[in-house]
Amino acid sequence: MTRNIALLGSTGSIGRQTLEVVRDLGLTVAALTANSSVDLMEQQAREFSPRLAVLYDEAAANELRVRLSDTKIEVLSGMEGLIAAATMEEADTVVTAVVGMIGLQPTLAAISRGKRIALANKETLVCAGELVMDAAQRAGAEIVPVDSEHSAIFQCLQGCRDQSEIRRLILTCSGGPFYGLSYDELANKTKYDALKHPNWTMGAKITVDSATLMNKGLEIIEAMRLYRLPHSKVSAVIHRQSIVHSLVEFKDGAMLAQLGTPDMKLPIRYAMTYPYRAEHTPTALDLLSCPPLTFAQPDEKAFRCLAIAQKCAEVGGTSCAVMNGANEAAVGAFLREEIGFNDIPALVETALDRVEQVSNPALADILEADRLARQAVVSHLK
Ligand code: MG
Repeated sequence: MTRNIALLGSTGSIGRQTLEVVRDLGLTVAALTANSSVDLMEQQAREFSPRLAVLYDEAAANELRVRLSDTKIEVLSGMEGLIAAATMEEADTVVTAVVGMIGLQPTLAAISRGKRIALANKETLVCAGELVMDAAQRAGAEIVPVDSEHSAIFQCLQGCRDQSEIRRLILTCSGGPFYGLSYDELANKTKYDALKHPNWTMGAKITVDSATLMNKGLEIIEAMRLYRLPHSKVSAVIHRQSIVHSLVEFKDGAMLAQLGTPDMKLPIRYAMTYPYRAEHTPTALDLLSCPPLTFAQPDEKAFRCLAIAQKCAEVGGTSCAVMNGANEAAVGAFLREEIGFNDIPALVETALDRVEQVSNPALADILEADRLARQAVVSHLK
């Protein structure tokens, strides 16, 4: 069980909810990191008194250093700061709640110190899943997923002694705000439409990914890496109510699922207390007031991003990193209202066509694939 955490990405949605769990469970915080939110970071640092506070942005870190000058908290910036936070001696668990590829190097650094990783940064596993899981195995570092679907699967697999007994993993997918629409109907959807998620409150990037269903595509790859399963054993099903968080079917036909209210604090809390559970009644699911639970096939013709991700999941190599990098850049452009909704899959496809792919990539190949994919998107926008 976790006692002291380093929290990477403390001002985002998962980061803030992690700090609520930290308060509930009475944990201590060794380090906090964020991108550039000086005000919120100052507030969090004063409440949780970490030894280290990091803002990735150097100017913001300088401002924070001045503001915290009456405390003993050390302030750092940049990738160096993130890695220092990820490798803090006194932290037993590193929560990786940063968004995007920037989480990769700090996660690898934490793994090399044998920390437990409460993993909420799916891009890390999507781009470099094999490297991350190999490193974790070598260092004896536990990886406990925080993503709700992967936490559900992780919980269903407690007691499974032989991975070969798994017939398939089934990730549930809310369908997002545009469920039921055709490709043409999606064309004029704006960021304001996309940011209205029916069930979950999340950051902007993942909310757009949920609207395009790229999020489910990323999660299929994340599950393949976490559980070392081929693409043929991982699928997704639409489940609009977000009550069944995912399922595992075993070779004897038995199917296990984890159910609960859609509240990210449950998987966060489990990642902290695993292999135990903490008492917590407010989030209990009332079966008698549940809506009927329904399941449907996702529409990959309308939601092109899911089809693209399925293809990359099959191909492997650097294709997942190219897809992820291009998607991050395209979602950024969509949030700045520079492109339309259907331009997101189109730009990801453009990057996959343009960037040469490498099989069995090393870390350098993955970082390069990510860089070239973003560049392909940016140059296409000009
Ligand atoms: Mg999820």
